[in-house]
Amino acid sequence: MDKINQTNNGPRPSKRIDAKYQNFYTKPSIGGWATLKLLWQFFRKPAYTVPQGQIPVTPLTKEQIEQAPELSAFRLGHSTILLKIQQKLWLTDPVFSKRASPFAWMGPKRFHQPPISIDALPAIEGVILSHNHYDHLDKEAVLALNKKVKYFLTPIGVGDHLEKWGIEKEKIRQLDWWESIHLSGVAFHATPAQHFSGRGLFDGDQTLWCSWSIFAENTSIFFSGDTGYFDGFKEIGNRLGPFDLTMIETGAYDDRWAFVHMKPEQTVQAHLDVKGKTLLPIHNGTFDLALHPWQEPFERVLVAASEKGVALSFPSMGEQFSITKPNMGSFWWRIVDQIKETKVPCRLRHALCKRGN
Ligand SMILES: [Zn+2]
Repeated sequence: MDKINQTNNGPRPSKRIDAKYQNFYTKPSIGGWATLKLLWQFFRKPAYTVPQGQIPVTPLTKEQIEQAPELSAFRLGHSTILLKIQQKLWLTDPVFSKRASPFAWMGPKRFHQPPISIDALPAIEGVILSHNHYDHLDKEAVLALNKKVKYFLTPIGVGDHLEKWGIEKEKIRQLDWWESIHLSGVAFHATPAQHFSGRGLFDGDQTLWCSWSIFAENTSIFFSGDTGYFDGFKEIGNRLGPFDLTMIETGAYDDRWAFVHMKPEQTVQAHLDVKGKTLLPIHNGTFDLALHPWQEPFERVLVAASEKGVALSFPSMGEQFSITKPNMGSFWWRIVDQIKETKVPCRLRHALCKRGN
C-alpha cells in the first residue's frame, strides 16, 4: 500500500488531492465485477442480518437523564451515545430516523425505536459528528436537535453541510485531524480515522472523517467514528492515551471493505493500541449494513476480548452505564432470537454455526 502522508515527527494533518480528502494509505478499489456481485448479494441478503425478535430497549425520560450522576452514559442506538460530562450532555453521531438512507421509503431500516425522542431530550451541550454517512449524520435529527444544542463539532467540511441546512454558523466548530478545542470544561481532539465520506453520487471524500479523543478533568473517552484498522490508533494511543472508555466500531464489516471497517478482532486491537481500559463496541444492533449475522459482532468481540484480557461493556439500548466504571452488561442480543447458550463454542456463533461452519 502506498503511504500518502509520510510519517514524520509531528502529527499528520489531513491531506486533500483534487478536492478529495485522503487516508494515510491508498484505499484499494473493489473492482467493477466484484461490485456487481456485491450488489447482487445485498439484494438477496440472508434473513440472519436482521433480528427476528424484539431488541430490548429501556425507555428513557428527560428526568432520568437529568438526575443521572456525573459520567453517566446511555447508548441510544448505532453509534449514538449520550455522555454526561461536567454535568452537561454530549451526543455522538445522533441518528433517530427510521432509515439510514437518503430516502424515507428505502434503505437500511432501524431494528428498534430510540429509547427517547429528540423532543423529550434535555438540553444538549454539543453534538459530536464523525463523518457524513447517513448512519452517522441524520439531517432530520440534526435539524430537530438544533434548538436544544449549543455546539456542533465536526471534521472539516461536515460543518458546511450543517450550515447549508440552516444551523447557525456560530454553533459549528470544524476541526482537522489533531486539532483540538476546549468547550465547557471538555477538550475535544479530532483524531485520524481510515474511512471515506459522501452522501450522494458526486461528493465522494469531499468532507473529512475523524475519530474523537475527549478529555475532562475526571475522564478520557475515545470515539472511533467509522474506521478500518490502521497504525493511526497506535499514534493516538501514544499521543493522547490512555482512555477510560473506548467506543469503537464493531459491525458492518466484510473482507471486501476491510480497509474502511474493522472486524471485531481488529476492534479489540485498536482498543489496545489507543490504550483503552474498557471497550464499548458500537456500530451494531441498530442497522443492517453488511452481510454478517446481526449478532456476530457481539459474539466475535467477546471471544477476541477474552483472549486479550480486554474489559468489555455491552449496555443495552437506553440502559444507563458509567463511563469510568462500566458494567459488562447483560448479553442482551442473545435473548432477541432465543439463543440460550451463554458460552461461545464456535468463533462465529449462531447463524454461521447453524450452517455448519
Ligand atoms: Zn461511514
